Amino acid sequence: MADPAECTIKVMCRFRPLNSSEVTRGDKYIPKFQGEDSVVIGGKPYVFDRVFQSNTSQEQVYTACAQQIVKDVLGGYNGTIFAYGQTSSGKTHTMEGNLHDTDGMGIIPRIVQDIFNYIYSMDENLEFHIKVSYFEIYLDKIRDLLDVSKTNLSVHEDKNRVPYVKGCTERFVSSPEEVMDTIDEGKSNRHVAVTNMNEHSSRSHSIFLINVKQENTQTEQKLSGKLYLVDLAGSEKVSKTGAEGAVLDEAKNINKSLSSLGNVISALAYVPYRDSKMTRILQDSLGGNCRTTILCHFVCSHHLYCDWVCVCRAKTIKN
Ligand code: ADP
Ligand code: MG
Repeated sequence: MADPAECTIKVMCRFRPLNSSEVTRGDKYIPKFQGEDSVVIGGKPYVFDRVFQSNTSQEQVYTACAQQIVKDVLGGYNGTIFAYGQTSSGKTHTMEGNLHDTDGMGIIPRIVQDIFNYIYSMDENLEFHIKVSYFEIYLDKIRDLLDVSKTNLSVHEDKNRVPYVKGCTERFVSSPEEVMDTIDEGKSNRHVAVTNMNEHSSRSHSIFLINVKQENTQTEQKLSGKLYLVDLAGSEKVSKTGAEGAVLDEAKNINKSLSSLGNVISALAYVPYRDSKMTRILQDSLGGNCRTTILCHFVCSHHLYCDWVCVCRAKTIKN
């Protein structure tokens, strides 16, 4: 297990293959990979904690980026995994993938399986309580995906000053199948409320939270950890020209929450968590004794631009 005193933020990146329409219009496959942690784009080397080429399997991505975090969460730490990138770069493919297919499953279903495999392998003195929540943040409003009547939840702090989304549904689950059903339910609720799902998902953050509590019934020792799995809004710059009213509001909001997330991650002394609802919610799962992985997604025909992830930039400057 990782050193508990060490707070780790890892930045990894994944390049999806060119799709058929990109191939048809003659897009070039730009990146050249060097070893497991660097990629050369336009003659410039970029170094990450890990680089996943286009032929990397869902299982390989899981093993390299999430397995350790799951172990740590089961050991009582908090963690967050973000998928960052422009629309259609592969964020949802990485986080969810095909929820019901063994090879196609993304990180979330694999995490769920690993958690339950761990529980099944432990002796019966250990009692586990697993609960999940699923919500999205759109225009800085929090909408419960497991209860469509809750469209504007607020962030509160508990008695230990830990922020949480007040009133958000918490579903107790006792098998991987129940979790998958819960995710399907949330996804269909998300679809029902919006007219254009692609547009909507590119402008909202979706957050799946897994809470793990365990108690040793003999020693009464307790452990709890939680894991936020965040599929971020698309990082593309929404053009200011031509954007009016609601569209401009959306653009400002997305840019604000993505940049305040960037600020939180890059800040060392003063941590501006309160700048957006998303960073407030994640306050005790970023920094401190937490595990954070940011998975940046890139489209291979585009030049790499690290507009937000200062951490990326710090690493890319290494050369
Ligand atoms: P995003 O969530 O970033 O908007 P998606 O995850 O929906 O993007 O991916 C866009 C499309 O590309 C989907 O059809 C998805 O199946 C496909 N895709 C994404 N990543 C990969 C990959 N690594 N390998 C194969 N297909 C991928
Ligand atoms: Mg998506």
